[in-house]
Amino acid sequence: MFATQSNSGPRRGATHRSGLRGFASGVFAVVVAALAAVAAGAPAAAAASEPLKIVATTGMLGDAARHVARERANVRSLMNEGVDPHTYKPTPGDVRAMSDADVIFYNGLHLEGRMADVIVRMASRRTVVRATEAIDESLLREPAEFEGHFDPHVWFDVSLWKPVVTRVRDALIEKDPAGKDAYTAAAGEYLALLDELHTYARSSIATIPERNRVLVTAHDAFGYFGRAYGLELLAIQGISTDSEASLQDINALVDTLVTRKIPAVFIESTVPRKTIDALIEGCRGRGHTVRIGGELYSDALGPSGTQQGTYVGMVVHNVEQITKALGGTLPADRPARLAAYLARFEEPAEKSPATTRPPADSNEPAPAPNAPSAPSVKP
Ligand SMILES: [Zn+2]
Repeated sequence: MFATQSNSGPRRGATHRSGLRGFASGVFAVVVAALAAVAAGAPAAAAASEPLKIVATTGMLGDAARHVARERANVRSLMNEGVDPHTYKPTPGDVRAMSDADVIFYNGLHLEGRMADVIVRMASRRTVVRATEAIDESLLREPAEFEGHFDPHVWFDVSLWKPVVTRVRDALIEKDPAGKDAYTAAAGEYLALLDELHTYARSSIATIPERNRVLVTAHDAFGYFGRAYGLELLAIQGISTDSEASLQDINALVDTLVTRKIPAVFIESTVPRKTIDALIEGCRGRGHTVRIGGELYSDALGPSGTQQGTYVGMVVHNVEQITKALGGTLPADRPARLAAYLARFEEPAEKSPATTRPPADSNEPAPAPNAPSAPSVKP
């Protein structure tokens, strides 16, 4: 029997709201102990010929691990396209994959609200790493509406995602010391790409006329994004999608949209569209036309094998959608590394996509048509 299934009802809520603080430090202690065992001379889990087995909860973390580990690991992300991490419950297959993993990465900061029990259980026997522990706590947002907890959506400030990548690198080196040079080099290239991404996002958003720099979305996933790149954030829902937006929330936001003449709102890949539709309808009733500025990727990557199926590609997609919808102009050229990285996803006219698109996930439950291979960052 799948143990967490029996945890429905009131106890789940309690776990989600308050159980994680102690859980995080408990996991950390276990990780430290596990890493110490490796450092003390326990046999490394995998030789170069046998790839490490890595499980990451989110697609963003899986993508980071894939870029750092390349062919030295098989990486499986549990939450793929369109999955909402706030409400996701692990499947028996997820639990089996975790039980079998050399390293498990999770976001923490309450993002995986309903995976907490499983992660705690895994931490007693596997190497479990909360990847966001590498971020300086003073840089974490602690919005009032999240009742004393940190905002978990750190991936949308690229400068905060860099220490996460570094943490992934260090965990892999500790697990597989023979790969140190490879992990270091690959992470270095990827971090350089992230620097360009950060700069690109900033300069693109800066072209939006100042009065239009307002991002209206269904749930509050973009707080870090707004802080990093200069957008005011308005969300219908709080930080987690675990609660429904109330009519009151929607009416308050309609007021703001009408008064400030905000031209566009955005839908999100992991949030049902009805809340945004209610908003548009409310504005129409008061004589203000708001259009949908496009779909943003919030808490999950896009389809595996596409640009949006990578972290970098997802951020670029969001930045460009937002820039265009709010009246900005995309920079004439993307920076060199970023351009080269994204070029692989552009389909040449007469060629099969299979020859140009690297598969993003080497270890999907449903195998992709393409042969697995680790993506690499080419400067
Ligand atoms: Zn979220």
